[in-house]
Amino acid sequence: AVSATRIDGKVFAQTLRGRVGAAVGRLKAEQGLTPGLAVVLVGEDPASQVYVRSKGKQTLEAGMNSFEHRLPDTASQAELLAKVAELNADPAVHGILVQLPLPGQIDTQTVIAAIDPDKDVDGFHVINAGRLMTGASGASAPSVPCTPLGCLMLLKDRLGDLSGLNAVVVGRSNIVGKPMAQLLLAESCTVTIAHSRTRDLPAVCRGADILVAAVGRPEMVRGDWVKPGATVIDVGINRIDAGDGKTRLVGDVAFDEAAAVAGAITPVPGGVGPMTIAVLLANTVTAACRQNGLAVPDLSAG
Ligand code: NAP
Repeated sequence: AVSATRIDGKVFAQTLRGRVGAAVGRLKAEQGLTPGLAVVLVGEDPASQVYVRSKGKQTLEAGMNSFEHRLPDTASQAELLAKVAELNADPAVHGILVQLPLPGQIDTQTVIAAIDPDKDVDGFHVINAGRLMTGASGASAPSVPCTPLGCLMLLKDRLGDLSGLNAVVVGRSNIVGKPMAQLLLAESCTVTIAHSRTRDLPAVCRGADILVAAVGRPEMVRGDWVKPGATVIDVGINRIDAGDGKTRLVGDVAFDEAAAVAGAITPVPGGVGPMTIAVLLANTVTAACRQNGLAVPDLSAG
């Protein structure tokens, strides 16, 4: 018995892309500015190729410039750093994204550190992590990692003011769990970060008004881990065997069980997943405005 409201990330992402497109139209007409996003792909990883293709397509659909740079699997770290330096210096490029994972001969942190923090639309640079943690605003406001920022938009759309709510984030990666926790803290939630060493994880989760699962373990969060009425955000994307030689995508939350208890829940697919690229486009518009000393439009609501 599903009682929870289904949070439709696909629809929200479409709305967000519409707001991005409108903002881009205004920037072009009023400022003669076309935001540009450069994506660098090293090697031929099939999943990465799919992501890069959809990023390029959606960037163009929003009216922005898309620059795609491909380096061979054998590219050296020096070659990639040279490419990053070139994009840092290019005034038509407002956002730079180096698609991860990188091949083994390249050190990911070194490459991220080389990206101009103001063009780091993935928000992975230590400067942006620090800006997020310290609550920097105005000209030094952070670029925030796209997936957790998308989760926050869904939460605020559903709940409005989050202040005082108990939030539990399961997972502490630099790209999802940690920035998610920082965003919720900035919204004045009482935040718990859980991980593989957490004791009695089900009991910790049962305390959550907001439960974010970013673990990478299929259907780990069960229905009896969920506080009645809680808002559940499922970041996990796991491909599992569906029998008869087929596979299907599931999240980190056992959806049917959790949906019988929760107040609202994101499905997988169609929840958090579609938000990520839409937020990337929004981050690129924000970066373009900041780099040109223009007011940053509020794209997260409206
Ligand atoms: P990750 O780097 O592998 O981090 C996983 C986290 O989960 C770690 O902090 C780990 O704890 C914790 N964990 C693992 N097993 C656990 C357990 N049994 N109990 C409690 N915590 C446990 O993964 P990620 O990059 O954050 O991604 C998480 C999931 O989100 C994946 O399914 C990924 O595919 C998905 N994802 C989706 C999007 C999107 O929707 N666009 C974007 C990014 C990621 P320790 O730190 O203690 O090891």
